[in-house]
Amino acid sequence: MALGDDRAMRVGFIGLGIMGSRMAANLARAGHELTVWNRTRAKAQEFATAHGATVADDPAGAAERAEVVVTMVVDGAQVEEVLLGPQGVAEAAPSGLLCVDMSTIAPRDARRIGAALAERDVAFVDAPVTGSSPKAQDGTLTIMAGGTAADFERARPLFDAMGEVVLHVGELGHGQTIKVINNAVAAVNTAVVGQALLTGRAAGVDLEALERVMAAGSGASAMLALKARPMREHDYATLFKLEHMLKDVRLCLDTAADAGASFPFAEQVERILAAATDGGLGERDFAALIEIVEAEQGTRL
Ligand code: NAP
Repeated sequence: MALGDDRAMRVGFIGLGIMGSRMAANLARAGHELTVWNRTRAKAQEFATAHGATVADDPAGAAERAEVVVTMVVDGAQVEEVLLGPQGVAEAAPSGLLCVDMSTIAPRDARRIGAALAERDVAFVDAPVTGSSPKAQDGTLTIMAGGTAADFERARPLFDAMGEVVLHVGELGHGQTIKVINNAVAAVNTAVVGQALLTGRAAGVDLEALERVMAAGSGASAMLALKARPMREHDYATLFKLEHMLKDVRLCLDTAADAGASFPFAEQVERILAAATDGGLGERDFAALIEIVEAEQGTRL
């Protein structure tokens, strides 16, 4: 439902990929006024035609009239480039601008970018998301935000339009820390579900029965629900790119190392995802990791 004019915000939105295009569409549907920029301009134009947004020529153009700029690109280098690089957001930032990065990037990059923006009087919140494109589409993402409570509250109307579970999890960078730990768990769990299915297949049990029992009991997980079927059918239509999952698992391993912790299961799944990327599966859904698990066991589901 559209907001009344008093609650509508002027939003710059940067990055209209699988996730960003759907999240920005929910902001437009909620009545916010969008100026969008995307590296591949045609996608921005297509979005603007469908949702009534303005297309900017560069990231600075998306910022010049904005109260909040949202970024949804791939990694820390890209966030830094669009916010702080040439023709970046900081060059045109109106006084009091708030930047909200919803990409998944290294926690230490989020802190560094936040400090650089603070020097230019621009506020920053890291607010990564979980839930793949269907939840981005429905506006039911889980959003975990790090930053000050005041900045979180400023962004909350936007979060409410994009998410269902919206949490202020702590200081700047803690959103990303929680996100990369979560994604490492999802990747490990997907590989475990694949190995379980292969074990069931080898033992000759009915895989439908195995899946139903696990789903109803202590073997249940979001990855069982979402990835067992694509793995069994070798259907890797992309909801979440495998190369992005590899990025996130590596970010988790770096975060663990920085904290003096170890995460050996994440190390194992990093090896599987790296082998899948080397095998040309990086742009497919991360369910494609089953190809490596199968190759290692010399069998197929
Ligand atoms: P995607 O479909 O690959 O979209 C990436 C976006 O970043 C596109 O708009 C792309 O522009 C832009 N981009 C790429 N390289 C760029 C550069 N050098 N400079 C400026 N913009 C650049 O990825 P996605 O699935 O939407 O994921 C976006 C972020 O959300 C990632 O950090 C990912 O880890 C995270 N995430 C994804 C999911 C998911 O299920 N898909 C879930 C949670 C979090 P072009 O159109 O020009 O390529």
